[in-house]
Amino acid sequence: MIVGEQKPVREIIDTIIRYKKLLILGCGTCVKTCFVGGEDEVAALASALRLALKQEDRKIEIEEQTVERQCENEFIQEAANAVARNEAVLSLACGAGVQALAKRFGDTPVLPGVNTTFIGIQQKPGLFTEECQGCGNCVLAVFGGICPITRCSKKLLNGPCGGSQKGRCEINPETECAWQLIIDRLTLLGQHKNLRAYIPPKNWQPSISGGPRKYIREDHII
Ligand code: SF4
Ligand code: SF4
Repeated sequence: MIVGEQKPVREIIDTIIRYKKLLILGCGTCVKTCFVGGEDEVAALASALRLALKQEDRKIEIEEQTVERQCENEFIQEAANAVARNEAVLSLACGAGVQALAKRFGDTPVLPGVNTTFIGIQQKPGLFTEECQGCGNCVLAVFGGICPITRCSKKLLNGPCGGSQKGRCEINPETECAWQLIIDRLTLLGQHKNLRAYIPPKNWQPSISGGPRKYIREDHII
């Protein structure tokens, strides 16, 4: 899932200040799961903005809606009427959702209400951790399902740096050493020999370092 955090209310107010009619549009998938973009968060943010703007003696009409996913045209379409009724849209989706809206509604300003942070998982209620940096060439099979690119602070592919203490990363002791986890997991899986194999320098071209990427499925193009 994509994990994000709601922007501070003050920052949002500065962004929306010129508009008198605003649609706050939530997204019911990833950002709902991390408690920043679902229906409840749309309602809470709308109330906070109304209150804050009232205290500043500013008038604004705020409409609320949430669609299933803002990154898919099929769902974006459901918001078309509400978008048309308003001067601007404050999107509580990830950056992909914001840009998908901006492409679909080219003459309406679309503003981000969320800081998109990472691809991650929910470890337990309220705790989200980064697990994947979308490198474009997944190497998890070699590393026992633990990503050294994301979870090792130095992105080491050929063993630990030697600086970990009691299984913690020397860069940030609050973080588990990814290589300790990799070694433990490969040992558990009986794949310890993976550690002896030389991993050549990674080709970063399929990653974001090679520029914005595309994924094309010819069999689905119409
Ligand atoms: S190896 Fe690449 S694709 Fe696989 S989890 Fe790590 S960053 Fe993500
Ligand atoms: S201590 Fe472990 S996680 Fe931290 S940089 Fe070294 S090998 Fe990577």
